[in-house]
Amino acid sequence: VTTSDHVPAQTQNDTAPTIAGRPAAWLGLVRFGEVALKKGNRSWFMKHLRDNIAQTLRGLPVADVHVRPGRCVFRVKDASAWPEVRERLSRTPGVTSFSLALEVPADLEAIKETYDVLVHEPFESFRVRANRVDKSFRMRSNEIERELGAWIQQHTGARVDLTRGELTFGVEVRREGALVFVEQTEGPGGLPAGTSGRVAVLLSGGIDSPIAAYRMMKRGCRAVLIHFTSFPFTDASSWDKCRALARMLTRYQLETRMFVVPLGEVQQRIVVAVPPRYRILLYRRMMLRIAEELARRANCQALVTGESVGQVGSQTLANLTSIERVATMPVLRPLIGFDKLEIVNEARKVGTYETSIEPDMDCCQYLMPPKVATTSTPRELDEIESELDIPELVEMALAGVKEERFQWPEA
Ligand code: ATP
Ligand code: MG
Repeated sequence: VTTSDHVPAQTQNDTAPTIAGRPAAWLGLVRFGEVALKKGNRSWFMKHLRDNIAQTLRGLPVADVHVRPGRCVFRVKDASAWPEVRERLSRTPGVTSFSLALEVPADLEAIKETYDVLVHEPFESFRVRANRVDKSFRMRSNEIERELGAWIQQHTGARVDLTRGELTFGVEVRREGALVFVEQTEGPGGLPAGTSGRVAVLLSGGIDSPIAAYRMMKRGCRAVLIHFTSFPFTDASSWDKCRALARMLTRYQLETRMFVVPLGEVQQRIVVAVPPRYRILLYRRMMLRIAEELARRANCQALVTGESVGQVGSQTLANLTSIERVATMPVLRPLIGFDKLEIVNEARKVGTYETSIEPDMDCCQYLMPPKVATTSTPRELDEIESELDIPELVEMALAGVKEERFQWPEA
């Protein structure tokens, strides 16, 4: 979400604007929230954040991504690339917000000179937000705000509105100089990719599981994706969707492994051996067993699903319980308390929604029973499964696993 779509006026070429008689630098100024709280491990988190920012911006005209107290900063060699920089940073976990800033000498006259470079659209109200990071600077934050505010008011005739100002003129006075900006864009927040370990997400191609993956990635986990398909007994449409979803999700975590498991034959064995209304529950138990083995091989510490309590018949508390009983790894369900509408709204923001709603042939529709048992017990399912050679079925599925890898930026 961009709080202002304002792109500074003089961003059309890569020559830096002249301020106070010398060229001023365009900088990307990145703010982070929770990372800063990580006392003893802060530098480790910051290194991940810095590396992730450098990687996601690869191929764009930026340089020298580095950490300064409380901020991450990089040089923008060509400010006309900012819209693409903005798009990528808005999908970088650990980033709470960021701005395109001009770095000028820490001097009020120089700061005023940035106004004509930064502002090129009329506005009726504004506010000044100053932050004196360098405490040796001769004016306090509120003094800077007052003086600049009065000057802008005189210059433009606009009125000051401290709560809802249409334009926010931001200034950070630091030892290296003053950073001035008029635009601030939100990032996802959370923790940098790669700082919280690895999880295996069961990805269906629907709306929910990509968001479950996103939620874990936002908390710093690397998500290994596992998709079950009935291909070649059905078409490969859900596989294609998962590939598109994996590509989108990779923008947040930069590299992704996806395992695709053929489940069709396992489903055929289940269908001949068990009463129809238990089919889905047994498919799910098989998915967890197979996923857990893949998760172990990929060094994941937990399984993740997009389940939310009561959403459909297979997701009643009783069924969730009897399904997860076959897993020894923890089964995490980041969406457990979410309404469908909340998940849909998030999917729109994350960018997975349009792909998720495309029609597909998911394995849960293959050999689908007319009705699902809305209640079950682990013992009941154990008994029904005693007709099946479970280890053999797991091996059968694992033998056909395909792996795909994704990278951001794409080569
Ligand atoms: P989704 O929108 O994620 O498909 P859903 O509301 O349709 O969720 P179900 O189809 O009952 O719910 O699936 C519940 C969860 O089981 C999914 O969120 C996903 O984690 C997992 N799952 C279901 N089908 C598959 C599949 N084909 N491959 C991998 N995981 C699956
Ligand atoms: Mg589904």
